[in-house]
Amino acid sequence: MTTGDSDLDPPEPFPLPAAAPGAGFTVLGLRAEAQRIDPGLHVVATPIGNLGDISFRAVRTLAAADAVLAEDTRVTKTLLAHYGIATPLIAYHEHNAAAMRPQLLGRLRGGAALALVSDAGTPLISDPGFKLVAEATAQGLPVTAVPGASAVLAALMVAGLPTDRFFFEGFLPARSAARRQRIAELGAVPGTLVFYESARRVIETLGDLAAVLGSRDAAVARELTKKFETVRRGTLGDLAAAFEAEGPPRGEIVLLVGPPEAGAPAVGEADLDAKLRGAMERLSVKDAASVVSAETGLARRQVYARAIELASRQKGEG
Ligand code: SAM
Repeated sequence: MTTGDSDLDPPEPFPLPAAAPGAGFTVLGLRAEAQRIDPGLHVVATPIGNLGDISFRAVRTLAAADAVLAEDTRVTKTLLAHYGIATPLIAYHEHNAAAMRPQLLGRLRGGAALALVSDAGTPLISDPGFKLVAEATAQGLPVTAVPGASAVLAALMVAGLPTDRFFFEGFLPARSAARRQRIAELGAVPGTLVFYESARRVIETLGDLAAVLGSRDAAVARELTKKFETVRRGTLGDLAAAFEAEGPPRGEIVLLVGPPEAGAPAVGEADLDAKLRGAMERLSVKDAASVVSAETGLARRQVYARAIELASRQKGEG
């Protein structure tokens, strides 16, 4: 990670409002005064729905910080108000991050304690913050984690799928061809796959997961920690069919797919050809090779070479 020269300049004057007099917080109806926290960047996890899912240390940190850097200040204002916290808010999101970073780093070099939050859950997990943390650490500035809720972990806690190894993908591509390609690349990962997905794309994505990965155990975790929390479990095909029949679910969604079966039977040549021919009816040669390689566990290069052979043979016959 490179840092701009300006990041190393002496601290610039920064438009940071003074901390409110009598800074403090209210928990379970009890008011407490904010105590000092160490200078540096404090990366603070906030709830993913239920406002109770925040640590005492997180509340203390938000109350004692010189400012809270928030993805959407309106969202964070609600959280701070819930805990009686009056710390000034500064917007830090993907559209202003590049412009804000030098000022924030300057402020940190000057000894400020800044708390970084996102709209929900853990900052940097499919949320802003990575560059600020990377540049702060590159400059030797203190960075502290105040851990807490994250949808990826909450979903793993209730899905009923193996958790000894998992792979967090975040959001898949929005277009189906790119999505299938990426799913195929993930097909041989020997652990549970975890995806974030928007409610309106869940049906399409479940269909693509079923088409590429076949009949694997899966779960759809919706509105975790909230009033309408539901977890649906079944094979990818069953879940795709169920949501297709019911219509798209509402709310926030995590999709989870169990690992491929250990020691899946080796694929014979005739089998491989049949799978490739089937896949090439709906996909390009390259995508078909990726899909079949993921499905069979055979090396992608080997499957691709066979796919090219079959495609040129089909062309000759046609
Ligand atoms: N940083 C957050 C975290 O630690 O989980 C995630 C932010 S990401 C931009 C938002 C996505 O996380 C949503 O689209 C959804 O896939 C997932 N998500 C967040 N809250 C959720 C919840 N309560 N239930 C299910 N999924 C949730």
